[in-house]
Amino acid sequence: MKTLGVLGGMSWESTAVYYRLFNQGVRARLGGQHSAKLLLASVDFAEIVARQHAGDWHGAGQQLAELAAGLQNAGADAILIATNTMHKVAEQVQAAIDVPLLHIGDVVADALLAAGVHRAGLLGTRYTMEQPFLIDHLRQRGLDILVPDADARADVHRIIFDELCQGEVNNVSRETYQRIIQQLAADGAQAVILGCTEICLLLGPNDACLPLYDTAALHVDAGLNWALQS
Ligand code: GLU
Repeated sequence: MKTLGVLGGMSWESTAVYYRLFNQGVRARLGGQHSAKLLLASVDFAEIVARQHAGDWHGAGQQLAELAAGLQNAGADAILIATNTMHKVAEQVQAAIDVPLLHIGDVVADALLAAGVHRAGLLGTRYTMEQPFLIDHLRQRGLDILVPDADARADVHRIIFDELCQGEVNNVSRETYQRIIQQLAADGAQAVILGCTEICLLLGPNDACLPLYDTAALHVDAGLNWALQS
């Protein structure tokens, strides 16, 4: 088994999900006392959020690039950035390391295309839904990506930062997401990408009218496929 380096803490609520899924995945595949070989660099998320607000993506990228290099030096064979949003600086991180960065956009594109999905809705932070770094990555793979309207995007973003990243899960917010997904279905989406690693805290696989592609679970699964390949 190879060692995976995880850039986490963005937020730690989703990194805790990654940690559990990595270890459950290794147990399911190898059985017995086997568990995942992981190195984790967990940031103070408030520092990253401050940089997002200030538009200092380069500074945030520098911080993550240095942490990724540290994980590589400590023995990581590949790196995962355990957030969609911070894939905005994926190239900066990859440039700082020699080992592969397992890009969350490739992982979700592989899963959608394998399932025959060509038109998907995308839910995530405002950055992820409104900027090209993830959407273009998916479009380059031939996917048609739909995002909610401006009011709905504001709700999706607010619920991520004010609730899910702070460990709060509310029924009213679940209903808000369900309504937004209904609209994406009416607009022609065949499936919805949970393009923020905390949304799985709010929505389970059977909570919506469309199939849900959870980037946290898919990212972990791809990491394990990579770590356990012969
Ligand atoms: N974890 C979230 C994501 O997947 C948002 C937190 C962040 O801004 O990194 O985008």
